Amino acid sequence: MVRSGRRSAAGNGRERHEPTQATCKRGVEMSESDPHIHVQSDLGADAAARNKIASMFGLASDLPSVVTTGCELRVPRAMTSPLPARVTCLACREHAHRQHLRSAEQLERLSRTPGMNVSSAQAQQAADRHRDLAARFSGIDT
Ligand SMILES: [Zn+2]
Repeated sequence: MVRSGRRSAAGNGRERHEPTQATCKRGVEMSESDPHIHVQSDLGADAAARNKIASMFGLASDLPSVVTTGCELRVPRAMTSPLPARVTCLACREHAHRQHLRSAEQLERLSRTPGMNVSSAQAQQAADRHRDLAARFSGIDT
C-alpha cells in the first residue's frame, strides 16, 4: 500500500480564521446554569395569600426564597414570574396554561353552586381573566 501525498494538495493547509468582529458586545450575562424564568407550581398563590393576610393584619410572614416551579424544579423565587410575557420555560408555560384553564372552570362551577357568595358575573369575569392568561401562556410571542 502506498500512501499518496494527495492531501497536501488542498490549499496551503492553513484554516482561514476570519477575524469576525466580536458580536457579543451585549454579552449574555446570565451565567446561571438555568437562565429560564419559570412559574411557581401554584402560580404564586402563596404570595397572593400572604398579601391578603398582610393587608388584613398588617404583618407579613417571610416567603420562602426557593419555590417549586411548574416544571418541578426548585429555583429562587426571583427566577419565577406570574406574567406570561416573562416566563421563558416552555414546560412552565404549559403548566400555567393548564392551571389557568382549570381555575377558570372551577370558578364557573363555583358560580353555579347555590349558596356561594359569588355573583355569576363576578365569577365569569374572574374566569375570563384566567382564560385570557391561559391563552397568553400558550403562545410564546406575547
Ligand atoms: Zn420551568
